[in-house]
Amino acid sequence: MFSMPEFTVNQSEGSLPERINPVQKPVLVVQKYGGTSVGNVDKIKRVAKRVTSEIDEGHRVVVVVSAMGDRTDELVAMAHQINVHPPSREMDVLLSTGEQVSIALLAMAIQRLGYDVISLTGAQSGIHTSDVHKKARIEGIDTTRVERELKHGRIVIVAGFQGVDEAGEITTLGRGGSDTSAVALAAALSADKCEIYTDVDGVFNADPRIVPKAKKLDYVSYQEVLEMASLGAGVLHPRSVELAEKYNLPLVVRSSYNDRKGTLIKNFKTGSNDLKEDIYMEKVLVRGIALDENIAKISILEVPDKPGIAFRLFSALAKENIHVDMIVQNVNRTAVNDISFTVNVDELQEAVAVSQKFSFEVGAQKVEFDQGVAKLSVVGTGIVANAEIASKFFEALFEMGINILTISTSEIKISCLIDKARAKDAMVHIHEKFEL
Ligand code: ADP
Ligand code: ASP
Ligand code: MG
Repeated sequence: MFSMPEFTVNQSEGSLPERINPVQKPVLVVQKYGGTSVGNVDKIKRVAKRVTSEIDEGHRVVVVVSAMGDRTDELVAMAHQINVHPPSREMDVLLSTGEQVSIALLAMAIQRLGYDVISLTGAQSGIHTSDVHKKARIEGIDTTRVERELKHGRIVIVAGFQGVDEAGEITTLGRGGSDTSAVALAAALSADKCEIYTDVDGVFNADPRIVPKAKKLDYVSYQEVLEMASLGAGVLHPRSVELAEKYNLPLVVRSSYNDRKGTLIKNFKTGSNDLKEDIYMEKVLVRGIALDENIAKISILEVPDKPGIAFRLFSALAKENIHVDMIVQNVNRTAVNDISFTVNVDELQEAVAVSQKFSFEVGAQKVEFDQGVAKLSVVGTGIVANAEIASKFFEALFEMGINILTISTSEIKISCLIDKARAKDAMVHIHEKFEL
């Protein structure tokens, strides 16, 4: 599921000796500031101060920023007012403007404080991606330009969420993708630190906006946070965690509003010398709860029951780059089955179109879809080996009179598809029940 093309790094020649010599090596920090953190002019000025304080401490800094506040949502809404099926290429041209506003304004704010600074778009920063618009993957970064600017003593401000494909087209990395820009740049530049600044104090064991009693995690492993992020915990873009793990790059998630130390994400091994890490490993199994309300369920009714049918449907969806999640085949006692699966709401229209074509071709009865569903998951290392956790999870839903539509499990998670209208309350109840 997480396969990716080799991520290549093409660095400028002069920079390597500098990094190899530990005596001369200045600390290189990559910081990423999310939309809320640069939500207005005052906040941008605050970020400028935070960035320049790193310079005052003798560090070199690369900053990745998101679009201001809800700018990306606003741009999406405008596009849909004009065209219900806006072309993906033009969406990328449009959405990339959000980040371009932020980099220029932040650079101006930093320049005003008397520091040397330059803003760069994704393409100018050498961020090369695949050619799949709206969900491109970073394939490599040519760091020549960024390294040159750093060498000249400049703070480099990079537009997150965007890159350029082989044909020179602007691409974007999928919603929340600025985290991935930051991690990829940090890996490519062999940065000493990568900090993700956001509007909460770190990674919590449930979304703190839904579960007021959620606790901030001081430490969390790549695998656990990757699972949480993939299951809908919007705090990090899943691909950013994948890349951080691949390059063994510790990540810190922290608030841009205070100096609390945030959450450290890295590999934690048992038997480590670090006492805190050992305590971490011995803790309870369930590490967090994640909720994904951004999904929809598609059902194809009365599909002929014969070999090759599932292959045909899911390869057609894969060909359109539609990511399919929970899949269920209801076996009827006749010669037909019902097939249901979930997709991200952003891909619902396309997925329904593919399903309808498939349904027509194989002579299924009809295609239905439902946006009133949500996926609630409990996450933790080794969870599936512990039967008590599943039963407690199901009991909690039963106590609330919530029907489970679909269940799926992996080594480190159990997910249930439920009614979206009840999902937030269920999350709060489960958090309490597991005493997290
Ligand atoms: P940014 O614009 O900084 O990237 P996001 O909105 O993408 O911010 O991510 C931060 C939000 O993620 C928080 O405001 C919080 O509501 C949400 N969130 C969901 N799950 C979690 C979690 N487990 N821990 C922390 N935040 C979470
Ligand atoms: N601005 C983009 C979004 O809203 C990317 C990001 O914030 O990471 O999805
Ligand atoms: Mg984000």
